[in-house]
Amino acid sequence: ARMRVAVVGAGVSGLTATKCCLDEGLEPTCFERSEDIGGLWRYTEHIEASRPSIYASVISNSSKEMSAFSDFPYPEDFPVFLPHAKLLDYLRRYASHFGVTEHIKLGTTVVSIRKRPDFATTGQWDVVTEADGKHTSHVFDAVMVCTGNFSEPTIPLHSFPGIKRFKGQYFHSRQYKRPDVFKGKRVLVVGMGNSGVDIAVEASHVATKVTVSTSRGAWVLGRVFEHGYPWDVVFNTRLMSLIRNNLPGPLARALIDYTVNKRFNHENYGLQPEKRYFLPVLNDDLPSYILTGRITIKPGVKEFKDNSVVFHNCPEEEPIDIVVFCTGYDVSFPFLEEEIVKVENKHASLYKYVFPAHLQKPTLAVLGLIRPLGGIMPVIEMQARWATRVFKGRRANMSSPWKTDVFFSDSLRFGLSFDEVLKTEWLAYLDMLASFIGAKPSVPRLLLRDPQLAFTVFFGPCTPYQYRLEGPGRWEGARQAIRTQWDRLLKPTKTRVPTSTSSPY
Ligand code: FAD
Repeated sequence: ARMRVAVVGAGVSGLTATKCCLDEGLEPTCFERSEDIGGLWRYTEHIEASRPSIYASVISNSSKEMSAFSDFPYPEDFPVFLPHAKLLDYLRRYASHFGVTEHIKLGTTVVSIRKRPDFATTGQWDVVTEADGKHTSHVFDAVMVCTGNFSEPTIPLHSFPGIKRFKGQYFHSRQYKRPDVFKGKRVLVVGMGNSGVDIAVEASHVATKVTVSTSRGAWVLGRVFEHGYPWDVVFNTRLMSLIRNNLPGPLARALIDYTVNKRFNHENYGLQPEKRYFLPVLNDDLPSYILTGRITIKPGVKEFKDNSVVFHNCPEEEPIDIVVFCTGYDVSFPFLEEEIVKVENKHASLYKYVFPAHLQKPTLAVLGLIRPLGGIMPVIEMQARWATRVFKGRRANMSSPWKTDVFFSDSLRFGLSFDEVLKTEWLAYLDMLASFIGAKPSVPRLLLRDPQLAFTVFFGPCTPYQYRLEGPGRWEGARQAIRTQWDRLLKPTKTRVPTSTSSPY
């Protein structure tokens, strides 16, 4: 019988997990709590429990060629960075193209996942789902947890003395939809992640004043990078990754310092990060908004007063009407027993960010908990390709490199790290998982077979199609997708072909 796999959630992770199960001949059932697929990328005016809620203006901060699934390039005419509706459109096309849709059970919540009594020998799970108030029990051979990590907001109120007496309004960024709430107000944004900066920029169009408070600062990169190319196309090439990972520490840091400060000097803008290795924030407007006085950067909040805020190292208090806490999210798995995935201090103990390392059988995988500097779609897809092959290898009884003993002999446990992100380099992580399944492209081998392609693979952007050139899951279209990647990147912007008419307009 085919192995039955429960996939929990139908966002980016759940959709590609289901697709990878189908590719490997497994039998997936994907349970989605809400009424439709897409997860975070399905914008709604109303906030739903256990599903991320985004603001109306969200646009991807990874470019389309670097955020594609490896065998499904974006349409040529989609913009280079994607408004949420376009990204959702892409996910729908993906699901329907690969026959994923018919394996999804909408409106069905997974409420409990427990090891079966004979787990040590079978690796099976008891899964209980709930739909329309009715509970159903199932037995599955494996489970893929794809529930995301942007739906449980945290506001560490204890770190903000006086917040109780503050008479203004405050809310978490999860509640934010559009800027009209800030009209004529003095706004404070606490926290400098992507959402914080986006919200500050938007608020500044209608607010009287906008202040961003950050104790740790951040590197700010623009989507529009060197020579106007998307940042990730320049940053995530094999050549650049090789250089970053092989330079001695101080030189690597100097290179990063130089790169991130080329557009503007972070120190002069009050943005210098406290530690060096924070995940950069992507925003094109912030530097110019600081320069034009629309946004002011302040240190961490010392305390709230009735109608104002005091910042560390600043003597005078600042009058504030509305505070937006962009203080991030917690991760939790309410349907799992705590011992299966322990989350402490925003760190989960997962082998290569995917497998709980202490289970007797590797039949449960958690996808999408990593935040590397680059598009997450190809990363999650690679996790799913690896996980489904690990599941299958167990049954297929072949001597595979992930045989349980070898697999767990590496006792290194990787944390789920929210802060020290450059450590998990996007390309290095992709390559590592790809090498586990034999899908890592070999540049020397390509050089013999197809020098031009080898050149593009090494010096050009590491587009996800590279992981379909060889090995299991090889895709005939991969070479062509790589050869045409620049066409898809340039077509949406190179829209004016100059003519020689003499019209002055
Ligand atoms: P989600 O999209 O959160 O999907 C999880 C799904 O699981 C939901 O549909 C939910 O309803 C369902 N679910 C939850 N619990 C249960 C249950 N018990 N039973 C059944 N179903 C359940 N990443 C990028 O790569 N590029 C970007 O540009 C980018 N921009 C972002 C911008 C913002 C504002 C945010 C917040 C994130 C951004 N991300 C970006 C990261 C983003 O998390 C990923 O792109 C992606 O959406 C993650 O998908 P997911 O499937 O893991 O989680």
